[in-house]
Amino acid sequence: MDVNNFLSKIEGAWGKALQIDQTQSYREKLFRFSGEQREQIFSRLLETCKFLPKISDIYDAARDLNYLETPSPHFKPVEWQSTDCKLCHGEGRLAVVKQRSYIKASNGDWKPESRMVRISAYSDYNTSRDRLGESEYRFLYRCKCAAAELWNKAIPQWV
Ligand SMILES: [Zn+2]
Repeated sequence: MDVNNFLSKIEGAWGKALQIDQTQSYREKLFRFSGEQREQIFSRLLETCKFLPKISDIYDAARDLNYLETPSPHFKPVEWQSTDCKLCHGEGRLAVVKQRSYIKASNGDWKPESRMVRISAYSDYNTSRDRLGESEYRFLYRCKCAAAELWNKAIPQWV
């Protein structure tokens, strides 16, 4: 989906026309995405926006879809010992997707319970097209292999 297409689909879907100078700002902000990313962003906006999406809504959607992965200003590259670990592929970090549900205890109370849905190397998760399902959350863990040694100990270790 090219930028013009994206804009006319937005105008069509929400039944509103953008002003010319608005269009220019949208255009500038939309160029960084690929056609396929714009397609996904549009579909996400349809689900989340009641009103004509602002540029910030578009960027929220892009962030949700992991299209804005940029290192933080405090980013420091970590030197680590890669291992042939099957779980983290030598990266030392894992993305664990858990699903949270509520179960009724014998005393009638509802208790939160989470169960692991899938696990992968953290960077594999970021580059995959995996999307979180309903009630699913992603957690970062350190692996149990030697590659995890240099990662911040404040990150919980997967056991
Ligand atoms: Zn590992």
